[in-house]
Amino acid sequence: MAEKTARELTRQVVVGNVPIGGGAPVVVQSMLSTSTLDVEGSLAQITALADAGCELVRVAIPSREALEDFGHICRRSSLPVIADVHFDHRLAVEAVALGAAKLRINPGNIGAWDKVDAIIDAAGAGGVPIRIGVNAGSLSASFVERSDLSQPEKLAGSALEYVAHFESRGFCDMVLSAKAHDVRTTVEAHRLLARELPHIPLHIGVTEAGTFLQGTVKSAAGLGVLLLEGIGDTLRISLTADPTEEVRVAWELLAACGLRRRSPELISCPTCGRCQVDLIALAEEVEVQLRLIRKPVSVAVMGCVVNGPGEARYADVGVAFGGGKAALFSKGEIIATVDESQVVEALLREIERL
Ligand code: SF4
Repeated sequence: MAEKTARELTRQVVVGNVPIGGGAPVVVQSMLSTSTLDVEGSLAQITALADAGCELVRVAIPSREALEDFGHICRRSSLPVIADVHFDHRLAVEAVALGAAKLRINPGNIGAWDKVDAIIDAAGAGGVPIRIGVNAGSLSASFVERSDLSQPEKLAGSALEYVAHFESRGFCDMVLSAKAHDVRTTVEAHRLLARELPHIPLHIGVTEAGTFLQGTVKSAAGLGVLLLEGIGDTLRISLTADPTEEVRVAWELLAACGLRRRSPELISCPTCGRCQVDLIALAEEVEVQLRLIRKPVSVAVMGCVVNGPGEARYADVGVAFGGGKAALFSKGEIIATVDESQVVEALLREIERL
């Protein structure tokens, strides 16, 4: 029998109605970029995120003023809402009463242990899980000066110290993260956590990863390694972009790692001098249409007869161009020859039929 992955060994935590860990599918989450004081704008963004496939949403509570609006958002949100609180422990305590499905805190910036304990006790009484989110930029004071430790060791060590404290208070409903903007540090820190605390579900992410292109590449490099090693129970792709892009990238990454698929897989060639159609525009149009489809099919869009027929035959549905026309394949067989202008429609019709 195959050895269990780290993901299957973690204790399951339930956030609202969404299970994290214990072998559950890796959960996609994101964070609102709207002001929490803008309730309607925040709810509109939650709807857009849910449509894109987001399963949990995090909302910042930057001030006492935002608490009431946070409560309104929780009550009307279609997704379980995670309260993101820094510095003021009282905001986290009150967020539990206002409907937070989970808290995200960094004990290092909450301050004294009695303040952290007030949060632990409120979450425990309310049955609300806590993510302990350790960041390279805000490590626990006892680890900052340790020159004998590498940065991943500091991150993991800091997280271990917090987990020991939470467990000593009888609180076990935890998710852990140890993020850095550096890919190698993030990977090593999470590997250490998976080894040292195999029972705790891990929230993985490369933090402050940058704008769309750089952030996507950094996240795919770091989180891809972890996911393929069986590490990571939930993830957030951190992008300086619309948060729905984070969700789109998260799903692409999960699909690329063979873990979860939400829309069809597009196989398209990079084009070259043999290609006689505008394949880039065509593939982009197909990609946009495929986002609306919820079937786990593969779709090939290929520019010529060199690799085209092979890939198109191998996919569930495909087209291969040649001589100004495209051969339409379905399940390995040519079923029609279509004009370039009709390719997208023909592909969609065939996908619908499968
Ligand atoms: Fe070039 Fe044809 Fe290969 Fe596309 S399938 S990259 S057009 S050789």
